[in-house]
Amino acid sequence: MSEPLIQIEQNQISGDWTAVKPEFRKGTYCYSAGAKSVQYLGLPNPREWQPFDQDWKLPADWKQIILDGFKERLGRFRSLRLFMDICVRCGACADKCHFFIGSGDPKNMPVLRAELMRSIYRRYFTTAGRLFGSLAGGRELTEDVIKEWFYYFYQCTECRRCSVFCPYGIDTAEITMIGRELLNLIGVNINWITEPAANCYRVGNHLGIQPHGFKDSLEFAADELEEITGIRVDVPIAKKGAEILFVTPSADYFGTPHYYTLLGYMALFHEIGLDYTFSAYASEGGNFGLFSSHEMMKRLNSKIYDEAKRLGVKWILGGECGHMWRVIHQYMDTMNGPADFLEVPVSPITGTRFDHTKSTKMLHIAEFTADLIHNGKLKLDPSRNDKWKVTYHDSCNPARGMGLLEEPRYILKNVCNHFHEMPAETIREQTFCCGSGSGLGTDENLEMRLRGGFPRANAVRYVKEKHGVNLLTCICAIDKATLPTLLEYWVPGVEVAGVHELLGNALVMRGEKERVTNLRGEPLAAEVSAENAPAENSNGSEAIHA
Ligand code: SF4
Ligand code: SF4
Repeated sequence: MSEPLIQIEQNQISGDWTAVKPEFRKGTYCYSAGAKSVQYLGLPNPREWQPFDQDWKLPADWKQIILDGFKERLGRFRSLRLFMDICVRCGACADKCHFFIGSGDPKNMPVLRAELMRSIYRRYFTTAGRLFGSLAGGRELTEDVIKEWFYYFYQCTECRRCSVFCPYGIDTAEITMIGRELLNLIGVNINWITEPAANCYRVGNHLGIQPHGFKDSLEFAADELEEITGIRVDVPIAKKGAEILFVTPSADYFGTPHYYTLLGYMALFHEIGLDYTFSAYASEGGNFGLFSSHEMMKRLNSKIYDEAKRLGVKWILGGECGHMWRVIHQYMDTMNGPADFLEVPVSPITGTRFDHTKSTKMLHIAEFTADLIHNGKLKLDPSRNDKWKVTYHDSCNPARGMGLLEEPRYILKNVCNHFHEMPAETIREQTFCCGSGSGLGTDENLEMRLRGGFPRANAVRYVKEKHGVNLLTCICAIDKATLPTLLEYWVPGVEVAGVHELLGNALVMRGEKERVTNLRGEPLAAEVSAENAPAENSNGSEAIHA
């Protein structure tokens, strides 16, 4: 690599931490939301501005709006009040955030990130803070504090890794979410969130794909699948009375490598004869409301359920997405649920009843497919994936947000011959974030993304060097969009794929022609050469020893 790698320096703040102002240096922050999308979403204070401007053009009463909003949320979310009160500053979370590890900036330690808000809480909402101000750990709410919130709450991917290590269970992601929500009240938001959310309202998905473009894309995918397999698959869209509504992130229709995952889904659904439908109206599983406000999250989530009702399906199947599952698993039931007009998902192929989804009626594709494999319903040829030495990145939201740890691994171990886990302290509940989630996957903050993604890339590098791993799999659209850039920088030579891409490669379909390419259209490689092959499959985790 010709460019020098990013230098990581551990910095310390000497003196008063509140006196250190954020520096809006190119590559470390996200651009502000354009007036058009703010207006489209009906959010306050649409205007043109940028974080590096001196004047952020805040409303005249911005301070009162923030304090009123804070007070209202302290009353509404007991967790918020608890998180504001109970931190004992033990420091157990301090070195667990990938942004701190990659940037060395102390304000990226979860405890200090939370303190940005906690200091305002103390000053305005506790008796000690009102009486004694900074002596009680409080500080005045100023425009500089707003700028600091913006900078650091958009350097948190809401991944929740820190919460795993906090003895009190303080979830800094929830604090970041409230911080962003408060900033939204005065029109301080980022474009990479508001524009996709506005697109989602306007045409049904983040990418702004019109219904006819959506239909063309699916038909094009069917054409490609036919070329590869010799089998023509149906592309049902908005089919009333179908048993299942299938919802997946819109990147699957157009993005790379997401698209190969879409081919995998389509091959699978055809092979098992699933009675399902896509929908142009609910053509987005992702929900950028999670990154901006509870209200927007609720509005976006309702589209999926409105469409399920309109089409009269029995239940919903969801594709490989990260934050969609956090919303469904942790918020759907109390936001728009329980979805009593739907039925508890039952696999029409195996008869398995997925009771754990009884309030949301939405099942994860990895659970669905793992059940098919477990019941011997799929014929698989894992040697078709022999060009890959595979590892698996636990995407934060399915892993920590919903505990989906085993099913993707079970699928992978059945569809490929060479699977190697990354070190134990970097996977499963302790997985390291891609560094670009929660709306931060944009271009202008690339330096921060590469810094934040460094711990994940470092673990990939470990298995690349030890086992020759050349493919990182995951089940999140943001991961698929951002990990290729991260790996190109830190671990060149490792590609990224969805789990159902490998499933689609290995799936032996009835009546198929001889497969000569994988779903990427690349020649099927022969068995990995003896020289490069690992001594045996490694399906366990390993610890890094310095
Ligand atoms: S681990 Fe928990 S209690 Fe300890 S400093 Fe971090 S947030 Fe506070
Ligand atoms: S939620 Fe993730 S990104 Fe945010 S402070 Fe915790 S570890 Fe860092």
